Amino acid sequence: MLRRILIGAAIFFSFAANAQQNNAKMNAFVKNLMSKMTLDEKLGQLNLPGSGDIVTGQAKSSDIGKKIREGKVGGLFNIKSVEKIKEVQRIAVEESRLKIPLIFGMDVIHGYETVFPIPLGLSCSWDTALIKRSAQIAAKEASADGICWTFSPMVDISRDPRWGRIAEGSGEDPFLGYYIAQAMVKGYQGDLSKNYNIMACVKHYALYGAAEAGRDYNTTDMSLQRMYNEYLPPYKGAVDAGVGSVMASFNDVNGIPATANKFLQTDVLRKQWGFKGFVVTDYTGINEMTAHGLGDLQTVSALALKAGIDMDMVGEGFLTTLKQSLKEGKVTQAEIDNACRLILEAKYKLGLFDNPYKYCDANRAKTEVFNESNRNEARKIAADCFVLLKNQNNILPLKKTGTIAVVGPLGNNRENMPGTWSVAANFDKAVSLVDGLRSVLGNSAKIVYAKGSNLDADSAFEERAGMFGKSLGRDNRSAQQMIDEALDVSKDADVIVAALGESAEMSGESSSRSNLNIPGVQEDLLKALLKTGKPVVLVLFTGRPLTIKWENDNVPSILNVWFGGSEAGYAIADVLFGDVNPSGKLTTTWPQNVGQVPLYYSHKSTGRPLQEGHWFEKFRSNYLDVSNDPVYPFGYGLSYTTFSYGDVKLSTTSPKGNQPVSASVEVTNTGNKTGKEVVQLYIHDLVGANTRPVKELKGFQKIELKPGETKTVSFTITTKDLTYYHFDNTWGWEPGEFEIMIGGNSHDVKLAKLNWTK
Ligand code: BGC
Repeated sequence: MLRRILIGAAIFFSFAANAQQNNAKMNAFVKNLMSKMTLDEKLGQLNLPGSGDIVTGQAKSSDIGKKIREGKVGGLFNIKSVEKIKEVQRIAVEESRLKIPLIFGMDVIHGYETVFPIPLGLSCSWDTALIKRSAQIAAKEASADGICWTFSPMVDISRDPRWGRIAEGSGEDPFLGYYIAQAMVKGYQGDLSKNYNIMACVKHYALYGAAEAGRDYNTTDMSLQRMYNEYLPPYKGAVDAGVGSVMASFNDVNGIPATANKFLQTDVLRKQWGFKGFVVTDYTGINEMTAHGLGDLQTVSALALKAGIDMDMVGEGFLTTLKQSLKEGKVTQAEIDNACRLILEAKYKLGLFDNPYKYCDANRAKTEVFNESNRNEARKIAADCFVLLKNQNNILPLKKTGTIAVVGPLGNNRENMPGTWSVAANFDKAVSLVDGLRSVLGNSAKIVYAKGSNLDADSAFEERAGMFGKSLGRDNRSAQQMIDEALDVSKDADVIVAALGESAEMSGESSSRSNLNIPGVQEDLLKALLKTGKPVVLVLFTGRPLTIKWENDNVPSILNVWFGGSEAGYAIADVLFGDVNPSGKLTTTWPQNVGQVPLYYSHKSTGRPLQEGHWFEKFRSNYLDVSNDPVYPFGYGLSYTTFSYGDVKLSTTSPKGNQPVSASVEVTNTGNKTGKEVVQLYIHDLVGANTRPVKELKGFQKIELKPGETKTVSFTITTKDLTYYHFDNTWGWEPGEFEIMIGGNSHDVKLAKLNWTK
């Protein structure tokens, strides 16, 4: 044992000594380089134009080649292909005075050409190893195609499904969000000396997901307690995992835009969390501070630099105004030098000074992108992210015989499958639901298809929802004609699979909605299908929680498939036929109606809580017209098998001080199929110095059980799990009673109590 400890210590110290040596080397290199740089060249490093290849915001035209030669560009983003990147890099390292290489970024958000489910979907796997693997593959593909920096992970907590960008994050919970952020950063970055890893950029820092009214880019105003306890943990998770860069968010936070927010960008990020990388703005984030009302471009650029921003995406505020601000004493040379140093250090860590073409291997681009192995992996990963919401009378899994009617505007559309923010996707090669079913079934069953309805009755809505991406295409027939055709096509079917919900671009950036129903024209179709009396399975496509109370009450089977990526059609077929047993669990609460929003499981009790299971009581915290309950709680999801939970057993019910407690439970597969279950641990602090949430997730484990098999699942609880940020700006915990709950979702839990003393 002692020997092992000594060997471990020796490895650790030699590792630390090595890291120190490398740091010293990097510092000397960067210092030497900076000593040769002019002020203009330093400002050039802070400039990040878009390439125009992939447009993700309002484009600015500029002569990139000329600027690179003049040393006015630090990096370029959303440029696609090794050939192009190689040529641009060549200009930088052969034709600019100091030959400083560029970094190349891209929005590789949930995969590159091989696309995985949207991040909200990935989070529903509750499987950090799987999520890490998706990031590793994304990094491998992107790096093979010239990219060395991704604008991911997006870790914004959101409890507002009106906000379209809820699709890009990991849902509502800070504990789960912390670990998913870590998994993604580790997956992308791994060992950065290798050419198959890339630098991550955690975004959007901070609190972007708390936009008022769920309207994109809107104001956020939040107490420090809520920030630290509920919204900041995932960003910190990324920093703790060593993320190389951070992106500032568009929104203002308590009156100061994040892009000029020194509290966020310096005090919290660098001083409290020890972040050592660089901070980039979001797309024209500096310029937008003029519209926020903070002054002209020169003023807001100086504010951003002073707050701790290092790189300016697209807007060229740094490039065009900081020189003047320096002259006028509005910024210091040290502030410019610091930002420049951080950008050069990032390039150094990526190995670009040693080999600027490290990521430009045309052979890799040919063999490592969108290959069979990555696509197979994407298929497996997607199937683990779907959430079975309802399965009355075990309609699912389906038999691989007879006739299956696929009906709905989302059933036979490839371009819609990758989902929002899949800028590098091969849209035409994505697998639609009909493609997937046909491939899995071969000749064993017959598939018939009818579109059944347009996405929405309102063509103008459909146009807005397709502006940024791929439109579904509009059918000019009347709604009734389309329904009639669908009924006719399905008349001989044994089962109807209704492929309904949102199109890919109904969620994502600038896609907020005030109504979260499935569009009415699709609901009418669904009602007509149900009237046939045939079994109907709703395959629900969505980038956010929808209000589907009616559907839950009336449709026998509902499988939520988010946007499952390039292989989604196969993965859906795998789950529909039971080749894969669904195991996803929701990471957001699904409300009954929009009026309940924000609805989240870890709410406070209030002074007048409503008793569980009740609806209305006068002078209690509730609504006249709807109960407080969600349609589906956080953590919820069914399987083709069933699980039962034993009682929660605690190693002690009276822990003292820092003594850890073990909480365990026996979980049994009580059905007749092998299945995976996400076992969740929640804690309720019954008496605190501040009001405390009714429960908070503090542990989760995904296990697999064969029919009849029982496993004991144990969690270790420490005082770290009880610690929270207080009203008086201190961290701590109070002794007293705690409820320890374990279950398969946040609502159905087994409970034990303990009394923790100091
Ligand atoms: C988005 C970011 C994205 C950036 C670059 C912005 O509009 O908010 O998430 O990384 O564009 O494409």
